[in-house]
Amino acid sequence: MIGIPDSALVLLIGASGSGKSSFALRHFDAQTVISSDQLRGALTGDEADQHATDAAFGRLHRWLDARLAAGSLAVVDATNTEWMRRTELVRKARQHGRPAIAIALDLPLDLCLARNAARRRTVGAAVIRRQHDELRRSLERLDLEGFSAVHILRSDGEIDGVVVQIEKGPAARAL
Ligand code: GDP
Ligand code: MG
Repeated sequence: MIGIPDSALVLLIGASGSGKSSFALRHFDAQTVISSDQLRGALTGDEADQHATDAAFGRLHRWLDARLAAGSLAVVDATNTEWMRRTELVRKARQHGRPAIAIALDLPLDLCLARNAARRRTVGAAVIRRQHDELRRSLERLDLEGFSAVHILRSDGEIDGVVVQIEKGPAARAL
């Protein structure tokens, strides 16, 4: 069981194709989820348009600030495989006095590549390989990055079986 305080920042972490957006859809209300792909799509019409990355993350950070300030749950659906990106986000949670929770989807590279290839919008295989390497290196250090809890899901079975429980806490709605 993964317990999530309802004022938390949740980072989904995983290569493209690992199932982050599916996980978000299944376990969290749509309005709690901030997706870098969706923001890219909203900006340029193409969720995979890497030119829109900086602008998309600018918006992601601003919206995240607003939700954390409101004491609202915020789920960041982005690869988050780079420690610099995670550090920025964890710092933001800390600035607002909110807990940060990591949920990493550690699936085999081949599965991420196959799932990516099967969908309409594809990410380059080399990019996914790099993200997967970054994820693997990250797994050992997640415990040292200031998260209140780190959950690593290592198979489809584990991902399918997990129960996510949103816990009402006193820190919520502290506007
Ligand atoms: P993301 O790139 O990490 O956000 O991954 P997505 O959630 O978009 O999933 C990538 C692809 O894998 C999509 O086509 C999903 O339908 C598929 N997918 C995601 N989770 C599962 C799963 O648990 N089982 C199977 N069979 N497919 C999945
Ligand atoms: Mg996605």
